[in-house]
Amino acid sequence: MSDCLFCKIIAGEIPSSKVYEDELCYAFNDIAPQAPTHFLVVPKAHIQSVSAVTAENSAVVAHIFEVIAKLSKELGFDEAGYRVVSNIGEAGQQSVPHLHFHVLAGRDMTWPPG
Ligand code: 5GP
Repeated sequence: MSDCLFCKIIAGEIPSSKVYEDELCYAFNDIAPQAPTHFLVVPKAHIQSVSAVTAENSAVVAHIFEVIAKLSKELGFDEAGYRVVSNIGEAGQQSVPHLHFHVLAGRDMTWPPG
């Protein structure tokens, strides 16, 4: 999508700090980190949010979770634990309408979220 911030990051039109990339997804450090480790994993194909996941496009979501599990081991935070978050829509405080999973690690998380 031409006016989507994360589509522009994936295309390299806006610079980002890359954590991982393959043919289906892109991971990059959040510009405003909320934990010592905070990166976003996004599908390269534009999907608006979890609410737009269907039988036709859901394979990339499983793939993204495989990538997160792999990165958690490679980056060394799988044993301590971490959090994966996806905000959806207005009440969910989603600010960028391109499906993304926040991966937060490196500190003890709190619950409930704000
Ligand atoms: P949301 O609020 O939609 O759940 O998450 C969007 C995330 O994108 C926020 O955590 C925000 O800090 C991050 N973000 C917004 N603009 C940019 C940007 O230009 N570059 C990077 N790396 N992250 C961004």
